[in-house]
Amino acid sequence: MSLLGLGVTNEIRDRFFALLDSLSALRSLTNIGVEVESEADLVSQALEQLVKHQNLEYCSIFFLEENELYCVAGTGFDEQHAKLSGQPAVHLASEKSMRFSVGEGVIGLACQMGQLQYCRDCAVDVRFKPFDNPTQQIVPGSIIAVPLQFADEIMGVLNVSHPIAEYFEPWQQHMLTLYCSILGQMLHSYRLMSSLEQQVLQRTQQLQDTLDDSEAMRDQYQRLSMVDGLTGLFNRRYFFPEAESQLSRSIRYEQPFSMMLLDIDYFKQINDRWGHQVGDNVLKAIASVLQRVTRLGDVVARLGGEEFIVVLPNTDTDGANQIAQRIQQQVEKLVLNGEGPEGVTICIGISALNDRAVNNLEVSRCVDILYKEADMAMYECKRRGRNQRLIFDSDETSLVDDTRLP
Ligand code: GH3
Ligand code: MG
Ligand code: MG
Repeated sequence: MSLLGLGVTNEIRDRFFALLDSLSALRSLTNIGVEVESEADLVSQALEQLVKHQNLEYCSIFFLEENELYCVAGTGFDEQHAKLSGQPAVHLASEKSMRFSVGEGVIGLACQMGQLQYCRDCAVDVRFKPFDNPTQQIVPGSIIAVPLQFADEIMGVLNVSHPIAEYFEPWQQHMLTLYCSILGQMLHSYRLMSSLEQQVLQRTQQLQDTLDDSEAMRDQYQRLSMVDGLTGLFNRRYFFPEAESQLSRSIRYEQPFSMMLLDIDYFKQINDRWGHQVGDNVLKAIASVLQRVTRLGDVVARLGGEEFIVVLPNTDTDGANQIAQRIQQQVEKLVLNGEGPEGVTICIGISALNDRAVNNLEVSRCVDILYKEADMAMYECKRRGRNQRLIFDSDETSLVDDTRLP
């Protein structure tokens, strides 16, 4: 074979290998997983694949943002590292200087036209515009800038250069166009997925907020449904189950347990004379007295109208009587803001567990009985005049129904 023939064969062989390298670069794009951390990560991995298979001096990718192209990843910034490691040095670029307006330089033109721009000889081509950064001032021989796009949307530009002018051949231009088309599609999918993820996150947050709101509303409602709106004391809905649980604890630990029922005397007259609003103020003032005089662990509630109830765990009848007396004294001394009644009196009926054996009785039944006994004692107070307090005594008062504690 002649020397000329050998030269042609070698050239064909070199091109064949270069073509194979190009195909490898394209194929390896598909190895980039969807789990990349960011768009910049995605393009720098894609660049890594490109330079691994191609003899290119400098490659970079620019993203388009608000009419400006900024470099997001590039090779060639750290040649020393590349030489030492044998790996192409791909960087996430943040250099402010590496920015082009749309239409500016070869990169800007590729973006503006939506078409590959081939600058065959940078030394003479007017389209070429060097970076402002002095470290990037070496003028390359030739440059290709290819738009990164999906459908009509241009997302950025791939910029590759080589020290030799007229370096890039048509097949390389085709390869780079194909490369950008694949990368454009990958970028588009990545953005779509990120925005979907973002939407899912947003929706999840909205859902969580709604759940939190409804939980807060439920708590509020639950609180409202257990609390008397006028006095802020618990209402009867809360009181009875709570009284049961306090009583069962007292029974279990064989501790004393008392209950008192309180009813304002002649409250109707207070309303009639001073008006309903003043009547309400009396109710609120008495509720405050009850809260002040009772201890933590006692359960105070407004049963309705001008009737209150208190359970006093760990308190026998003597203790309950003392507390009842203190309540009566403080209520009688009450002075309301503005005009209103003075010397308000109340009747208090007291009942207690004492030493009764209640083993065979349901705790709700026990609460029922204590309540009835306190009520009877209170009724007796009213019967005897007003402003009284009485401890239920089975010898003096008989139960309405004859269910008695054994
Ligand atoms: P007694 O001495 O026998 O207990 O008589 P009383 O007037 O206190 O009792 P009575 O049951 O005859 O009247 C209670 C009054 O309480 C009648 C009702 O209008 C009034 N009342 C009930 N709930 C409220 C309230 O929330 N606010 C006000 N201001 N009055 C209420
Ligand atoms: Mg009453
Ligand atoms: Mg009353």
